[in-house]
Amino acid sequence: MLRMTTLVELASNRATLSALAADAWSLMSQLRLDPLTGRWVVIAAERIERPSAFLTRRLPVEGDPDRACPFCPGMEEPGPATLESYAGAGRWQVRVVRNRYPAFDGTEPMVVSHLGPVFTQAPASGTHEVVVLTPNHDATWADLSSAHATLVMEALRDRMADHSTIPGLRYSQAVVNRGREAGASIEHPHGQLLSMPFVPGETANELAGFARFHGNCLLCAVIEAEEEAACRIIFADDRVVVVAPFWSGSPYEMLAIPRQHGPHLYRAETDDLAAIGHAVQVSLAAMRSQLGDVAYNLLFHSAPFRLSGDYHWHVHLLPQVTTRGGFELGSGVLINVVSPEQAAEELGSRVVAPA
Ligand SMILES: [Zn+2]
Ligand SMILES: [Zn+2]
Ligand SMILES: [Zn+2]
Repeated sequence: MLRMTTLVELASNRATLSALAADAWSLMSQLRLDPLTGRWVVIAAERIERPSAFLTRRLPVEGDPDRACPFCPGMEEPGPATLESYAGAGRWQVRVVRNRYPAFDGTEPMVVSHLGPVFTQAPASGTHEVVVLTPNHDATWADLSSAHATLVMEALRDRMADHSTIPGLRYSQAVVNRGREAGASIEHPHGQLLSMPFVPGETANELAGFARFHGNCLLCAVIEAEEEAACRIIFADDRVVVVAPFWSGSPYEMLAIPRQHGPHLYRAETDDLAAIGHAVQVSLAAMRSQLGDVAYNLLFHSAPFRLSGDYHWHVHLLPQVTTRGGFELGSGVLINVVSPEQAAEELGSRVVAPA
């Protein structure tokens, strides 16, 4: 059972740490530009004294706790057919199944119909799969061994590589949602892989960010600049860097970047996949140690299958500890109440060095 940090505890942690960080960090609000998406964010660190700014997980993920978990070992038969499974120690460790309620399904070509001047539609062709991260119902990615996290990354690679060969599909989005506040509807740790016949807006924005950048590669430059600045690094080894990005739009946001430049996750070397899987584990464990059992999303960004231009695959780790207000929804401008410098200091101090 994971510890549920109370808001009071969190608030008192915050007060101590903000006192510690006060010398290093001015409390003035500041605009920072996210060069990936082209959006401005507001770093408004003085707003953190409101304890209501933070939420630990509170909502039960499953409506009916008595219903058998479809992803637990022993439930394989009645559930959807296994597409791929990865074994270790005599039983499956990672398993990929078709989503029972797919958002994208079928092989119809993306033919756009215009039904009058303002109604445009197309078939939602594609695939929607579930990656069961572990047979252990109560584990999370933060609990996975390095070998196990590598299997998870290999599963994402193999499924994405498979989808990249399906005619008509253009992009694959892998996500992990942990906690109801992050959109999870089943408690058992799992990810989803959605492959679709178009390039979605967020990826199009990032592609434009890479194209706008004057230099070789935007994220290679980020690694170099963050290592020089040194104040936003949470974890680094010879293959991967995890930072609290300079332009973090939400508290404790992290970005895991492989040092090896490459646009496609599914073409990355196994050693780099393993390094990212491990870095995500270390970062999530640090986050849990600092913030308690908070809800989060992991977003795996890999280039569209047929890429023109440049891209560098990466993973966003987004704790869901605040709720977006009307200003953020109305303007698309995020207000972040914890500076990334402070987030890196807190999370970095919780990173456990590998044995
Ligand atoms: Zn389960
Ligand atoms: Zn790069
Ligand atoms: Zn991204």
